[in-house]
This record gives sequence, C-alpha cells and structure tokens, in this order.
Amino acid sequence: NSQLNNSYTFENYIEGDCNRLARSAGYAVANKPGTTSFNPLMVYGGVGLGKTHLVQAIGNHIKSNNPDKFVLYVSSEKFVNQFIESLKTNNVQDFANFYLLVDILIIDDVQFLSGKEKTQEMFFHIFNHLHQSGKQIVMTSDCPPRDLKGLEERLLSRFKWGLTADLQSPDFETRMAIIYKKMQSDGIHIPDNVIEYLAYSVDTNVRELEGVLISLIAQSSLNRKEIDLELAKAALKHIIEDVETEVNLDFIQKTVAEYFQVSLDSLKAKTRKKEIVTARQVAMYFAKEYTSHSLKSIGYHFGGRDHSTVIHSVQTVSDLIDTDKKFKASIQELQKKFKVKAV
Ligand code: ADP
Ligand code: MG
Repeated sequence: NSQLNNSYTFENYIEGDCNRLARSAGYAVANKPGTTSFNPLMVYGGVGLGKTHLVQAIGNHIKSNNPDKFVLYVSSEKFVNQFIESLKTNNVQDFANFYLLVDILIIDDVQFLSGKEKTQEMFFHIFNHLHQSGKQIVMTSDCPPRDLKGLEERLLSRFKWGLTADLQSPDFETRMAIIYKKMQSDGIHIPDNVIEYLAYSVDTNVRELEGVLISLIAQSSLNRKEIDLELAKAALKHIIEDVETEVNLDFIQKTVAEYFQVSLDSLKAKTRKKEIVTARQVAMYFAKEYTSHSLKSIGYHFGGRDHSTVIHSVQTVSDLIDTDKKFKASIQELQKKFKVKAV
C-alpha cells in the first residue's frame, strides 16, 4: 500500500508563477525517478500552498507508469510514530528493512522530525541507503532547509544535494484558474463577477480558497439561492474572521474599467479622452469612498497624479450624481459590486 491519494494529480494541479519551478521539477522527477539531479527533491512552502498535492501527484504519476515500483508516501509524523512504536516493541530492524525496500520515498513535512534525534538518525541511515541505490527521495517542509531548526547538520546538508524549490502564495490569475478548475470538476456554475471577487478576496492560500468555495456552494443549496455576489460576500464574512471590509483598489480599477469598457492601463495613463476621464474619475471616487487609501496614495495608483486631481475627481463625480439621473444609476450599479460592509 503506497498511502497515495489518487485524487492528487498533475492534471488538477494548476500551474502558475507561484509554483512553476517546483511543479516542473516535480514533473521531471515523476518521469525519471532517481535519475535526474533532483534527488532529493525538496519542496517547501507555507500551509495550504499545495505541497502535499504536488508530492502525491509525483507518487501517483510514477505509480501509474511503473506499477512494479514500490512508491511510498508517508507523513513525517507517521514516520516518527512508527519508529517509536518499533522501539517499544523491539522491531527497529523490521522498521528499517521495510523502508530500505522502498523505490520512491515521499516524506511529507520533515520539519516534524525536528528535535527527534533518534528518528533523525534512522532517517539518515535510510536516506543514505536509498540515495546510494539510486532511489528517489521527495520531501516537503514548511520552511527552507536553512531554517529547519532542530535538524542535524549532516541531514540538512543532504537535503541540499538535490533541488530545493519553493511554493509561493497563489497569485490572482492562479487563484482564478483554481476556482475555474474546481467548478469544472464539480459541475457547478459560478458567475464571473463572483469568481473574480473570491479570487481578489481570498489571497492567503489554496486550502482557504477551497474552503470558501465549498461553503459558498453549500450555502447556495441550503438556502436554495443561486450563487451571486451578495451570497459570496455573506459567505466570506462567515468564514474568514478578519475578512477585509475594505475593497481592494485593484478590484475597483478593474471593475470600473470593465464597466466603462476602457482598458485598465488607460486609467493610469495620461490620456484625456472623455470616456476615459470619466471612468478614471469614477474609479477615484470609489477608491476614496471604499478604501482607506489617502488622496495621495490614490493619485499615485492612478498614474502618479497629485492629490488635488483626486479631490477634483471626487467632487466632479458627486456633482454628476446630483444632477445626472442616468449617471447616478450607473454609479449605483457599480456600488453594488463594492459594498462589502453592507451585507
Ligand atoms: P500543503 O500540503 O502545502 O499544506 P495541500 O497540498 O494540502 O497544501 O493543498 C491544500 C489544498 O489546495 C488541497 O486541496 C490541494 O488540492 C489544493 N491545491 C493546492 N495547490 C493547488 C494547485 N496549484 N492547483 C490546484 N489545487 C491546489
Ligand atoms: Mg501538507
């Protein structure tokens, strides 16, 4: 039993700037285990960023191409517990023999070995044996090897023999892609504005993003309500405690640009075309209204304009709201997209 979960694959592991190196190194290892210079492969990164998924995908890929190979996935916690158990029952030799038979050893969260000297000694022994026999070792850790406290130096130096690659927090595009992929595989439809809103709001890690999605889907079916922006905002408030009650400035710019059908860049450019000027002024108005950016900061984010330009824009928009019914209606429509607090 390899302890692999076959729902973790490369096919459903979204590639992005945040994981490109780790993913491609992982893919290389998966295709040529033990024979690339990426041995060991060490993937590190914070919680929920996809370490376990990636290393399991490596294991599953190898397993399906080489059914006869002994691929083993083990968490470091389990490794420690098994080892302690073997000490108690006088079966240390069996424990070691079992691991020496493995062709591909995937060991997750090695930071857990910290301070456990006897276990580290055993792991050192297994590591050396496997590595010398050309067997592939894949590890994950929640921090770079140099920051792994409580691990023996000789072990750390071996971790650096191969390739160390990190996983970063997913960028906006990757978050969008992950939501799309999840919707696709679950056969669920979520409107584009909701997807964007979620991708903007949940920028911590993938696990949290998935949690929000699951909860949103659940609330939608419980309340027999279609998934829309209101529901998403409400769901987010329940899930993430310190949800930003503030709307992101990028989100405002993007939404306003889209609404007025002008490019995002033009909001920050010098151009004084009427429709662009209007869009720009409206975006500044919302930035003032819904973010805590100072006038100076807002100006800065609109192509380095000064704060008096921002004041003028806000004033112009306020005046138009009072005098132009049609304009007022479009502002109200936009407003709906930004009101987080009002839920
Ligand atoms: P970690 O081990 O780093 O804490 P996991 O591998 O458990 O993180 O990932 C958390 C969740 O996010 C899992 O459900 C995983 O499938 C998903 N996930 C992480 N990264 C990606 C990605 N790039 N594409 C698709 N799903 C991802
Ligand atoms: Mg993990």
